[in-house]
Amino acid sequence: MTPLRAELAVLTVPAFQDNYLWLIHDGVNAAVVDPGDAEPILAALRTHGLTLTAILLTHHHADHIGGVPRLLQAYQVPVFGPRNDGIGAVTHPLGEGDRVAVPGLELACTVLDVPGHTLGHIAYVRETPGEHWLFCGDTLFGAGCGRLFEGTPAQMKSSLDKLAALPDDTLVYCAHEYTLSNLRFAQAVEPANKALQMRVENDSKLRGTHLPTVPSNIAIEKATNPFLRATEPAILASLVAAGRLPAGADAAPDAVSAFAALREWKNVF
Ligand code: ZN
Ligand code: FE
Repeated sequence: MTPLRAELAVLTVPAFQDNYLWLIHDGVNAAVVDPGDAEPILAALRTHGLTLTAILLTHHHADHIGGVPRLLQAYQVPVFGPRNDGIGAVTHPLGEGDRVAVPGLELACTVLDVPGHTLGHIAYVRETPGEHWLFCGDTLFGAGCGRLFEGTPAQMKSSLDKLAALPDDTLVYCAHEYTLSNLRFAQAVEPANKALQMRVENDSKLRGTHLPTVPSNIAIEKATNPFLRATEPAILASLVAAGRLPAGADAAPDAVSAFAALREWKNVF
């Protein structure tokens, strides 16, 4: 008997302190995004009776690729990943505009280059009508963004702009549960934002019962994520008040300087 295939779904597989590994599956086959650790993925595959058919990577950090060798011992599958991020295991190198037909699944993704956190970082977008998904690694987080380990503020800003331009209902599958800590910073820089207050209530409840705050969606991020709102008057005023932008900078805002100042402030918040 052939097992019955279902609609595509995404399993949340927690790993380490605060990583999420994503297992996209149809009840039979599965693709994993950013398997930093193999054991929780192998366990999830066993529990759900799934066969791994592909590995998708966003960037070269160990908490995103560490499980690849062990998974490849168990499953000989293609490894999709960034062309320019120095990951030796990648068999299918990808860059901006590439389309991926994920083996074993009815899943097509488009690739975006999103440099900043690392220089070669990519994101995967599923554009199926009614099913907009974004796997963005450590670029966009719930109410935050990744640290600039390799890229410039201008690069990260334009990467985030690209993600913010996706449809509002795009689900944001980022790779870490950093939302509450990011929200504390967001509230400090934009205390009067009503949508932000609602999100803090909602996400605090979720974390209070150990539920993930991820995925959010692009509409929520645009309404609450300070890194997508760096030129909002209230945020510019906070940057000036905190001495992170020169007095008067809010009159003629420069989007990259405002973003850079926000990112540096968050680093020490
Ligand atoms: Zn990373
Ligand atoms: Fe990470």
